[in-house]
Amino acid sequence: MDLEKLVRSNILKLEPYSSARSEFSGTASVWLDANESPFNGPFNRYPDPLQLKLKQLIAQLKGVAVESTFVGNGSDECIDLMYRIFCRPGVDNVVAMSPSYGMYQVCADVNDVEYRKVPLNDDFSIDFDGMLAAADENTKVMWICSPNNPTGSAAEAEDLAKFAQRAECIVVIDEAYIDFSSKPSMLGRLHELPNVVVMQTLSKAWGSAGVRCGMAFAQPAIIALMNNVKYPYNVNMLTQQFAIERLRRHDEVAQQVKTLLAERDWLIGQLGQTSCVKHIYPTDANFVLVRVTDANAIYNALLRQGIVVRNRSRVEKCEGCLRITVGTHDENETLMKHLQEF
Ligand SMILES: *Cc1c(COP(=O)(O)O)cnc(C)c1O
Repeated sequence: MDLEKLVRSNILKLEPYSSARSEFSGTASVWLDANESPFNGPFNRYPDPLQLKLKQLIAQLKGVAVESTFVGNGSDECIDLMYRIFCRPGVDNVVAMSPSYGMYQVCADVNDVEYRKVPLNDDFSIDFDGMLAAADENTKVMWICSPNNPTGSAAEAEDLAKFAQRAECIVVIDEAYIDFSSKPSMLGRLHELPNVVVMQTLSKAWGSAGVRCGMAFAQPAIIALMNNVKYPYNVNMLTQQFAIERLRRHDEVAQQVKTLLAERDWLIGQLGQTSCVKHIYPTDANFVLVRVTDANAIYNALLRQGIVVRNRSRVEKCEGCLRITVGTHDENETLMKHLQEF
């Protein structure tokens, strides 16, 4: 893969903004370089634009080099950056498995980039050949989500690696749900896959959707491009501090994942004995996609009980389906009590 041929020429030539904090980041006692207020410490200071402390911790936990690690304002920022770096508006296109996470298409539309959807197979496996066939010389990015939202299906690492090796563009593998999966992360194979960008997030298993912290991992040249294009202070100080504290408590998170996986099994068992449930799809995530007798009616009836699930019945291949997030045991029991009434 020739990275320079994939990157928009304006981005390749970009002279990135040089902030006061990136020009001098050493230790000093008098900071008069950034027009900050001297009052209200520590929040009077701009945050570290490259989030070094946070990245060192992430890199250590994930077994990846700091230079291969990017931190964003949620995965959503990382997703948008792929378009802004690689895709010429009105000219280039991306190829995505479908159905999948809605933000891939929203960001394509915002950036005026053609979004080519390739339907999943009926068993929700990925049509890799179909995705390659949908690509042409203007395809810059392919979107893979594994485990996938909203289907819960996960691909084999070997199949993903083979696909990335055949693709002649950037392949994003969104691993937002990887902590719940029986399949390994692709992070361990990043060094053999120079065109792959792996995305993860603190929003799901790490229990921190409210702080907005997403991660991307790739070869250093791709990460450097992301750093050049992002807003200088894309991750605020509170988020950096909070994320560091959360990542240090990784055993607590591992315990919560275990609890949720046991709850997921319980929920699947209960759903299997529920007459309005026609099919339960296998899941590698913290949610279950179920085909029910009348998705709209059940969705609305649950709403009247104050229970919100996700109605996916108008999504292609998910007709008649509800997506149910695994909650606490009490929450799951409340849901089941009302579902059993159908
Ligand atoms: C929830 C989710 C994310 C998380 O996005 P953030 O911006 O990090 O909250 C990313 N990808 C997928 C597929 C998701 O379902």
